[in-house]
Amino acid sequence: MDFEFPEDIVKAREKAAEFARKEISSKKALMYDRDEKFPEELKKKAFEYGIVDYTNPWSMLVTIEELCRADPGMGIAATVSLFGAEVIMLFGNDSQKTKYLGAVQNGAMMMGLAVTEPGGGSDVAGIKTTARKEGNKYIINGSKMFITNGAIADFFVMLVRTSNPEDGKRHHGLSTLIVPGNLPGFSRTKITGKLGVRATNTAELVLNNVEVPAENLIGEEGKGFYYIMTFFNISRAYVAAQAIGIAQGALDRVLGYLSELQSKGASSSITEEIQMTASDIATRIEASRLLTYKAASYLFQFRPNPTITSMSKAYAAETAVFATEKALEITGYSGINGDLERFFRDAKIMEIWEGTSEIEKLIIWRNLIKETQGGN
Ligand SMILES: Cc1cc2nc3c(=O)[nH]c(=O)nc-3n(C[C@H](O)[C@H](O)[C@H](O)COP(=O)(O)OP(=O)(O)OC[C@H]3O[C@@H](n4cnc5c(N)ncnc54)[C@H](O)[C@@H]3O)c2cc1C
Repeated sequence: MDFEFPEDIVKAREKAAEFARKEISSKKALMYDRDEKFPEELKKKAFEYGIVDYTNPWSMLVTIEELCRADPGMGIAATVSLFGAEVIMLFGNDSQKTKYLGAVQNGAMMMGLAVTEPGGGSDVAGIKTTARKEGNKYIINGSKMFITNGAIADFFVMLVRTSNPEDGKRHHGLSTLIVPGNLPGFSRTKITGKLGVRATNTAELVLNNVEVPAENLIGEEGKGFYYIMTFFNISRAYVAAQAIGIAQGALDRVLGYLSELQSKGASSSITEEIQMTASDIATRIEASRLLTYKAASYLFQFRPNPTITSMSKAYAAETAVFATEKALEITGYSGINGDLERFFRDAKIMEIWEGTSEIEKLIIWRNLIKETQGGN
């Protein structure tokens, strides 16, 4: 049993931290947040630097952590252009992989994953967007909400309803299609004024008789729900890494602030309560890391453990919210006027996307009770 990462992963972490030191500053982060602008240049540089590589998931996990530690909005924007790629990697055919994955893996194209709709995101089987098969094409009608990279992606992996199964099981009638963003009838509207992660692009998508060739179906018709759930299991580990990065970034700033107080001879203002709180933040970060690396270890060996994955995502997200809130309380005026105000807003999204904390806890509960009752 060894709790240390192998050397190549340690190096990947160092490389990502070095990139963050060079390319992510408080000034730039403040600008992208204020202007709600996607940092295209940063994304390009991250690919050139060789730190965005979803075929090497452990490196990706620690890279996401380090970039979000520097700034969550910029860190996520730099690494999110392949969002949804695993659906094609795992379930797509060779020609889909060649056409789409190659281009997103070298940064030439950007993609998104469109599941959530204006009617809700947690009830995935309840989506209303339809795709009717006519000859050798699908005709799509409906809308998608809060889609990351929505206004700038070249194409989407989209969950659609292709049938209403007679067995009444809503999730049996769903399929995944690859939908290019520039098709007639496809309109995309950027959402502004988000609470956090404002450097990422979020949009509403409306599809009005959008036609895609039948060859854009990923895997089999009716299996889309399972593909998306498999994907969420993977992406939840990456969200946990984002959350750990945010929490660690908050702790770094708290410790920087407190050590400056000490060096100014103001140690007496570092009360016992502040010391306990800082220790608590550090402990929760460590616990989040252990859970997340355990979840990732199962996932990256192709034997996912959804209970551990949901535990890691929910716990790391709560840790990010806890750490940023406590960091603001400790640093007061200085924090509110610095990076921590942004970190605090960015942390909240960790409890929402890729399954809210309530949904993660429902998954944990259902698996626990199933195991207790001897199910599988
Ligand atoms: C910035 C941002 C980016 C996003 N990017 C994407 C993206 O790229 N692709 C995509 O498809 N979606 C994306 N989303 C959507 C996100 O995944 C959803 O917001 C999330 O799944 C929750 O769905 P909802 O907002 O519709 O809330 P709802 O599902 O309506 O839930 C509302 C509240 O009810 C609770 N709730 C719901 N059902 C239950 C239940 N059964 N038991 C207990 N509590 C329950 C939820 O926890 C939540 O607190 C993004 C969202 C944001 C904010």
